[in-house]
Amino acid sequence: MVRFSSLKPPYKKVPPKWLPAYEAHIRTVEGQVAIVAAWVLLITVIFYQFSHELRLAHRPDLWLTELFFRIPVLLSASLTLLSHYTGKPLCQSRYLLRAMGLSVMAMILGLFLIHYNGRTADTYQITNGMVISFFGVAILSVRGSREWWLMFALPLTIFALVAQAQGLALPALLPFMFDPLVMMIIGIVMSEALRQLRAGEFLARQQLREQATTDQLTGLLNRRAMHQLLNQEYARAKRHGATFSLILGDLDRFKGVNDRYGHNIGDIVLQETARRLGSNMRAQDALCRWGGEEILMLLPGTVLDGAMHVAEKVRRSLADDPMLAGEHSIPQTISLGVTSCHGDDDIESAIKRADDALYQAKENGRNRIEAIASPYSGHVLSAHQSF
Ligand code: GH3
Ligand code: MG
Ligand code: MG
Repeated sequence: MVRFSSLKPPYKKVPPKWLPAYEAHIRTVEGQVAIVAAWVLLITVIFYQFSHELRLAHRPDLWLTELFFRIPVLLSASLTLLSHYTGKPLCQSRYLLRAMGLSVMAMILGLFLIHYNGRTADTYQITNGMVISFFGVAILSVRGSREWWLMFALPLTIFALVAQAQGLALPALLPFMFDPLVMMIIGIVMSEALRQLRAGEFLARQQLREQATTDQLTGLLNRRAMHQLLNQEYARAKRHGATFSLILGDLDRFKGVNDRYGHNIGDIVLQETARRLGSNMRAQDALCRWGGEEILMLLPGTVLDGAMHVAEKVRRSLADDPMLAGEHSIPQTISLGVTSCHGDDDIESAIKRADDALYQAKENGRNRIEAIASPYSGHVLSAHQSF
């Protein structure tokens, strides 16, 4: 039996966490579509303007009137190319695409009205132009249904009103509009299929990217992704003379948890640790599984004292409540080493300081925090500080 749901198109839904990345992706696609559309319009519209005598020799008086309808298309296409090639976007590609789509519709419907005289043979060429334009405009609507509505419903309504005001009977126009409207529907279906294809590609690429940067067990960043972020943050700090901090944590006596409850329960403790740590972080902070049960946190724009407060919250979030794993309630603590990092530092020495501080925390009895200030920080307290 064919289930109804299997007949639905494979609608690709972008999860909320990827929406900003998807928006950026769509903007890139819009930028690319806008440039192609602008070139196509510029070439064809100029060609049609100057081949007037060849095509419509019997109405040379219309040259200026046709130019009037074509100028908005030429302007919006030129603006798009100017934005692109000067590298100074005058406005978002989304609006340029809308401007091109609407001006094409206004042009083609306007030309139809001035050339229409009730005879099929005379209107043949402009009807062909409408077929192509309706299809092209549908393809410009990269974002889907709302854009089609805007680009078709608005111009067609104005067209119908103007035609009526001119005393043209709409049923008489319908035979000329039939093919363009069918093409509009084909264009909309194709545009939707393209949109789905792009969303599918985006999701596949994003999934791969996420797999390459996250740790499967905890969902935290992996070490490689963290190295990248550290380098970025280091470059940013160096450029702006800013400070960032690192917190390196290691679960206390975790081997004992594995030995006593088994590896699976150990895994649940790791997952719960990741969750509790994550809830103590700001959006701009990064959390990574640095090793087996070692966690590294990157806190941009944070000095040592601020990082020690975060570390203390983290420590308490584990120490205050035992972990529930299976039927077990497991008390689990963490030791943390904190350091700050400045532009003159280098990342390797900063990580080493955090590691040394963590070692001291273990030496000094575990479930505690030790900090080592950066030699470049001019921190007023002694180099070593602990909670
Ligand atoms: P300490 O307080 O000195 O840190 O004691 P410890 O027992 O935690 O010692 P250590 O940090 O050296 O132990 C790391 C343990 O973490 C060893 C390993 O079995 C366990 N481990 C590492 N990765 C995983 C994992 O993915 N799952 C589980 N269940 N255990 C892991
Ligand atoms: Mg360890
Ligand atoms: Mg440990």
